[in-house]
Amino acid sequence: MSLKIMPKNVLPDWVAMLGTQFRLVGPTKQAGKYVYNEINSAEELCLYSLPSVLPPKKYLMPPRENLLNYRLDGSRIEATIEVEPTVIFGLHTCDIHGVMLLDHMFSSGYVDQNYQAHRDNTYLVSIECLAPCTEHSFCRDMGTASAADGYDLHFLDLDDVYIIDVNSRKGARLLEGCRNIFDALPPDVERLNEALKKKWQKFEYRLEFNIVEMSDLLGEMYESDLWDELGARCLGCGMCTNVCPTCYCFDVSDEADLLLQEGKRARRWDSCQVNSFSEVAGGHDFRAKIAARQRHRFMRKGKYQLDACGMVGCVGCGRCATSCLVHITPIGVFNDLFRRNRANAVEEPIL
Ligand code: SF4
Ligand code: SF4
Repeated sequence: MSLKIMPKNVLPDWVAMLGTQFRLVGPTKQAGKYVYNEINSAEELCLYSLPSVLPPKKYLMPPRENLLNYRLDGSRIEATIEVEPTVIFGLHTCDIHGVMLLDHMFSSGYVDQNYQAHRDNTYLVSIECLAPCTEHSFCRDMGTASAADGYDLHFLDLDDVYIIDVNSRKGARLLEGCRNIFDALPPDVERLNEALKKKWQKFEYRLEFNIVEMSDLLGEMYESDLWDELGARCLGCGMCTNVCPTCYCFDVSDEADLLLQEGKRARRWDSCQVNSFSEVAGGHDFRAKIAARQRHRFMRKGKYQLDACGMVGCVGCGRCATSCLVHITPIGVFNDLFRRNRANAVEEPIL
């Protein structure tokens, strides 16, 4: 929509003004980690954070959420949707791509009314990363090191000022009433382009192949021995999916009070990596082996989601690699598959 300039010393007052109208959340530092939390002032906000432990999806699909309250005799059943207008600060562009995938999945076919209510009441204020976050990030390979859409306001640091891309009416609303914000002028745009040029020099490609080859590669390596090797290492703890901004599976359960009069239906995050996930009626488990679960996880990240909706199922944030106790990393897995596939091709005789 438009580019604005905000002097850096204006940020605290702007955040304070927003705090009178919205719940504010953003990356904060706790015990050496970055964690999304409620904030009361700009001082608590770590605008330049490494990837947070849990992604900001926790505000759009909370780890546990009530869906229904009801009476067990059927005389009352009501949807419970509890939302609070919320501004999320400090999203990296990879997380914006994660939110865009969630938006797509929760609105395709059946619209998830709880997710939609959170989304409608959420304002996304993202920031351009000017250097790679960790050795596990590979956002440039996945095409998520920048974003052209998906946010309401997008900040880029130009030393003394922020240049802000106002991308939606919601974004414009956040700036209403904030004095000392100016329209960007051609010299500001030149500085923006210069900053982006310098940025790209710092982002190396980490995959040994191009993302456009990813889906075919995974299809060809469906029977690879690597899945058994990963299955032998994986603990089945589910941490990798919990911290992932593009994982959205959940379990639904009913809870009744002791008198069996009132009940609640709630959903909780679930993980395709844990034991009980694929167990169905009769005790049958259609993905009992950990190797099969690891294969499913990486197929979904690199193939299924791309094939189904043209969006990457992994945004290269590196959170799962940071949190995996046995050091299973997406870059390691994808590159290993690529090398094995290439080795197979060399061994095959030319007829
Ligand atoms: S975090 Fe690591 S050990 Fe745990 S389920 Fe994921 S891959 Fe397996
Ligand atoms: S699979 Fe790992 S690197 Fe990819 S988006 Fe999920 S947490 Fe990030």
